[in-house]
Amino acid sequence: MNAEIIAVGSELLLGQITNTNARFLSAQLAAIGVNVYHHTVVGDNPDRLKRALEIAEERSSLIIFTGGLGPTKDDLTKETIAKHLGTSLEMDESAMQSIQSYFSRANRKMTENNRKQALVLKGSHVLPNENGMAPGMFLAAGRHYYMLLPGPPFEMEPMFAKYGIPAIAAKMDTQAKIVSRVLRFFGIGEAALEAQLEDLIEAQSNPTIAPLAGESEVTIRLTAGNATEEGAIQLIDEVEAKILSRVGQFFYGYDDTSLMKELFKLLKEKNLTVAAAESLTGGLFQEQLTVIPGASSVFKGGVVCYSNEAKVKLVHVREETLAEHGAVSAECARELAENAASLLGADAGISFTGVAGPEALEGHPPGTVFVGLFIKGQPALAEKLMLAGTREINRIRTVKHGASLLIQ
Ligand code: ATP
Ligand code: MG
Repeated sequence: MNAEIIAVGSELLLGQITNTNARFLSAQLAAIGVNVYHHTVVGDNPDRLKRALEIAEERSSLIIFTGGLGPTKDDLTKETIAKHLGTSLEMDESAMQSIQSYFSRANRKMTENNRKQALVLKGSHVLPNENGMAPGMFLAAGRHYYMLLPGPPFEMEPMFAKYGIPAIAAKMDTQAKIVSRVLRFFGIGEAALEAQLEDLIEAQSNPTIAPLAGESEVTIRLTAGNATEEGAIQLIDEVEAKILSRVGQFFYGYDDTSLMKELFKLLKEKNLTVAAAESLTGGLFQEQLTVIPGASSVFKGGVVCYSNEAKVKLVHVREETLAEHGAVSAECARELAENAASLLGADAGISFTGVAGPEALEGHPPGTVFVGLFIKGQPALAEKLMLAGTREINRIRTVKHGASLLIQ
């Protein structure tokens, strides 16, 4: 199979952005043994896009498009391809649902325009977009395969690595086995992680190393191809060992796990229980822990103590602590964690108190958070965080910090 990448977007031609999508896709395709013979860049113009498509069809069997899947007038990739192939666009229900839930999560109203994003080429295999709205597509027509991907790299890269590669690999006639593995990190930013792995990332070929930023986490997807599955796994093991020797302290798990799932596994293995006292997170930690089946074996319970009154009455924080240090303090966090554990007879207590934002509180800027941790037989600790997200993101990050503190 040989491939051509067509990047669509006038910004690319104007020199406003670099075509990093072509670079990413080429590296990923090389790893699975697909030869990329051409990169094409074309503006947001239907006639020139059609011409580029016709040329690509003469010389390439797999044609991958990035960009122009958005809701606006200049986004015309799928319309142009549909017209060229003499096929139609139809509403994809699962894409529609994920667009709707995207809007409700973001608390925004959906416009008629956004419905357009759920339209897919008839007969195509839909590639879910876990970081945005426009779904990707994979279509076999005549002697060609067509893959359509969104332009923004943070949407395109995870989509291609997770769904695009397996879809292409399934159509290849070679016997190569493709294996991929995701390493998950918390507590280090994408840029810092990449800096530590720069030489490995630059020298990558098989496996490919794709760092992807997620919801306040970073993941690295390793993809290897080999004649045997064991061979591919071995290639991945070797690179994984190199990566973990450098940034292993931030690594917490593989593939589809989460910090909360890892915390649950650990507590269960060690036969320990936890209790929680939550202020700014309003019960989010407890919600995320109790979503896991079997949580009752590790979770004693907890409270949402949003007001100072609740902190005193429900978790027995001393009035003097609040008067002297305020609720947004290490002292308050420590008392909350220790009292939650002792009131409920749990082995560990976790607490969250701070300023989610957008307004300041007790003179502390938004994002000032104290996470309290108590482990039976040890003095309670508190960790101060200075978060820079929105109210919603600060709450999510706080809970993740809590889970990662407990895991340590
Ligand atoms: P959107 O829904 O955001 O409009 P889209 O699929 O329509 O997405 P474009 O409108 O073509 O994609 O591009 C959106 C953004 O994605 C660009 O402004 C640019 O930041 C980024 N982008 C697009 N193409 C590329 C590329 N080839 N390489 C790197 N970044 C790109
Ligand atoms: Mg667009």
